[in-house]
Amino acid sequence: MDDSQFKNLAEQAPFELSPVMPTLLPGDKVIQFRCHKDVGCWNACCSNIDITLTPYDILRLKNHLQLSSGEFLQQYTVPYEMDQDGTPGVKLRPVEGGTACRFMRPEGCAVYENRPTACRYYPVALLSMRNQDEYTDRTSYALVQEPHCLGHKEPRSLTIDAYREEQGVDVYDDKGRGWRQLVLKKKSAGPAIGKPPAVSNQLFFMVSYDIDRFRAFVSSESFNRTYDVPLEVMATLLADDEALMGFGYNFLKHALFGERFLQEREGAYDERMARLKAKAEKLREEFLSNRERLEDEKYSDEPRAGDCGCGDKQG
Ligand code: SF4
Ligand code: SF4
Repeated sequence: MDDSQFKNLAEQAPFELSPVMPTLLPGDKVIQFRCHKDVGCWNACCSNIDITLTPYDILRLKNHLQLSSGEFLQQYTVPYEMDQDGTPGVKLRPVEGGTACRFMRPEGCAVYENRPTACRYYPVALLSMRNQDEYTDRTSYALVQEPHCLGHKEPRSLTIDAYREEQGVDVYDDKGRGWRQLVLKKKSAGPAIGKPPAVSNQLFFMVSYDIDRFRAFVSSESFNRTYDVPLEVMATLLADDEALMGFGYNFLKHALFGERFLQEREGAYDERMARLKAKAEKLREEFLSNRERLEDEKYSDEPRAGDCGCGDKQG
């Protein structure tokens, strides 16, 4: 693959790449690497973090910390925009006033069994890419070799696939695949006309990251008045975070790209239109009555004959 092809693919990668320009590698590529507590750079990588979180990362971490998704987002993340269309992303928030991870401890990671995908992969980077005319993404890897990381000097060789297995990334990749494809699709589709409406990005944020709020949305009267979700499916969604997350990916495809996934109830479209019309009418009435009130106030403030106090003082 030449540089220009790489550049095209790298631009489509869902996450920012390291400033170190990587070479694309297959899963059977043998690398030399080992990280352990006695290595001279222990915790160096966790002292200066830039970690993008996937929906599954958030789900695992918020359950580990026994927080709601909203509490986790507020306490442990910072929002950012993943592309020029403002697609929302979240990163792990470092310690107050510093760059270190809040889960870093002298003995290692405090959330090790639920650490995010990016931490599991390091120093390997996952690159998922997709052409506009392809439905599935293609996966390649890159090796990030930063000077501070002495793990590359350790005498151990293994394939990237074996390293991924050792780090338990398979389940993270499986649970994140639908979302990565969605991000790539959103990136390659670009805005139809101008920027996507803010409401699409708000929906993307809620479904991708704030799963407890999405659960409340799915169980709301308005959602169920619109969509026909079988009772047993709904019961699973309300009880199972992972099932709800997978449902969310498909719901986003339905809502953002018109890929039919949910059955709308008969008459739901007409009802929705009627509700929107009634809402628009109410807003219009409020606007008109506010305008009348403001005009009345304006005229009542203007000086009228007699307001100067001299009207009755005719000689
Ligand atoms: S979550 Fe754990 S492994 Fe990842 S940066 Fe923080 S301390 Fe390091
Ligand atoms: S070897 Fe690399 S991954 Fe391991 S602690 Fe050092 S910097 Fe981090």
